[in-house]
Amino acid sequence: MNRPFDYGDKVLVLDNKQRRYLITLAEGAEFHTHAGLFPHADVVGKPEGVTMKSTRGASYILMRPTLEDFVLEMPRGAQVIYPKDLAPICMLADIGPGVRVLESGVGSGALSMTMLRYGADIIGYEIRDDFLNRARANVKSFLGEGVLDRYNLHLRDCYEGIDERDLDRVVLDLPEPWQVVPHAMEALRPGGILVAYTPSITQAAQTRDAMANRAWSGTRTLEVLHRGWHIEGQAVRPDHRMVAHTGFLTVGRFLG
Ligand code: SAH
Repeated sequence: MNRPFDYGDKVLVLDNKQRRYLITLAEGAEFHTHAGLFPHADVVGKPEGVTMKSTRGASYILMRPTLEDFVLEMPRGAQVIYPKDLAPICMLADIGPGVRVLESGVGSGALSMTMLRYGADIIGYEIRDDFLNRARANVKSFLGEGVLDRYNLHLRDCYEGIDERDLDRVVLDLPEPWQVVPHAMEALRPGGILVAYTPSITQAAQTRDAMANRAWSGTRTLEVLHRGWHIEGQAVRPDHRMVAHTGFLTVGRFLG
C-alpha cells in the first residue's frame, strides 16, 4: 500500500476549495479543470500527499481514496448506505473474516465492499441486473479482482426465499425486510444474526413484528446520529448543519 503512484491506481485529487475528483491514472491521460491541466504521467512515481501544479498554476493535493472517499465518489445505480451507517452495521452484524453473509439487495455495492473489507464471504441477492453489474464493477474497481471469489451475486427476489443454509448472517437493505424474516429463519444457523437497514420507522416496526417470537433474542432498533464540529481557534461548536436522518438499524439474534 505504501508505494509511489503508478498507472492503474485510483487517486483522489483535492483542489484548494476542497473539491474532490476521483481519477484512475492512465498512460497518455491528463487531469483537466477550468484551471488548467497536468498529465497523469507526471504523477507516476510520486508519493501520496504530493502537490501537483496545473499548467495555469492551480495546486492540487493527491492521495489514494479511502473506502469512505470511494463510497461517496463511486458511480451509483441505487442509493447507497452512507459511511456513518456502514461501520455500525458491520459491528451489529459482527462481520469478520470468513463470516458467511446473505446480503439483499445489493444496490451499488457500498455495503458489500465494506463487509468484504472486513473479511466476509457474501452471497448477494439482487432483483435488478443493472444494479448487480454496477455493484460487481464497483467492488472489483476498489478491492480488486481477488475478492470476487468471496462475492457471489445472484439475480433473485429475496422475498421468494433463500436457498442457502447455515448462514452466519442475513443483512438486508430492501423495501420490505419483514418479508425476508421467515426465510432468514430457515437459512440462518442458530446463533446467527439478522440486520435490516430501513429509511422509515414503520418499516423497522413491521420488521420487529415479524421478529416478535421466541426464535429471536436481543432484538433492537437504533439510529446513528453523526454531528460534525467546527473547530477554528476560539470558535469551537457543533456544525450548523447535519444530516438529520438516513435510516434505522434493526438487529436480532436467531436462536433456532
Ligand atoms: N445497500 C446498498 C443499496 C441497496 S438499495 C448499497 O449500499 O449500495 C436497495 C436494493 O434492493 C436495490 O438495488 C433494489 O433493486 C433491491 N431490491 C429491492 N427489492 C428486492 C428484492 N425483493 N430482492 C432482491 N433485491 C431487491
